[in-house]
Amino acid sequence: MGGTFDPIHHGHLVAASEVAHHFELDEVVFVPTGRPWQKAERVVSAPEDRYLMTVIATASNPRFSVSRVDVDRPGPTFTIDTLRDICRSYGPDTEIYFITGADALAHILGWRDADELFEIAHFVGCTRPGHPLQDPGLPQGKVSLIEIPALAISSSECRERVGAGEPIWYLVPDGIVQYINKRGLYRHGESPPETGR
Ligand code: ATP
Ligand code: MG
Repeated sequence: MGGTFDPIHHGHLVAASEVAHHFELDEVVFVPTGRPWQKAERVVSAPEDRYLMTVIATASNPRFSVSRVDVDRPGPTFTIDTLRDICRSYGPDTEIYFITGADALAHILGWRDADELFEIAHFVGCTRPGHPLQDPGLPQGKVSLIEIPALAISSSECRERVGAGEPIWYLVPDGIVQYINKRGLYRHGESPPETGR
């Protein structure tokens, strides 16, 4: 499951859990983007902060893990590179599903190397409150659409709430509230120092 995860929230976790159950997946690998080219218009938190938040949020689930492939690859993140790297580390016998939300799926044909994407992975589009699921023109049999219990939570709203001094308890896991506070993320006009590795 690819995402910016700035921050990761319960909408992401419920979607991952639901897709894993539906397709009987052995593992869900969360892959925080490096520098997402689709979000060039806003400042995205440091990859290391987004990676650590994703680790904190998924730590208690034995079937969830986090990959550094996108965080460690220099340059903007393209899904084709993510899938190639994940394929390489899990081996050719692994069946790969790429989990994404209805909003991202709508742009999928515009992604780099769209044809090859569909050869490497089966795509799973999740419903998401406020985003219609149907997208005409997606290749038959390569994309499954799945209904997720509606949680109208977005990372943007979480960031705005933190900036406005409003609580985000229960929208994100407790450890994420604490990490955001500890690092001073999303406070207007301040950028937190880079984390050391
Ligand atoms: P932002 O508001 O900054 O765009 P976001 O909440 O959309 O952040 P992303 O990291 O961009 O989070 O999302 C990663 C993937 O998770 C996307 O494909 C998105 O559609 C999906 N997703 C995000 N929130 C939900 C939700 N509440 N329910 C289902 N899917 C979601
Ligand atoms: Mg988004």
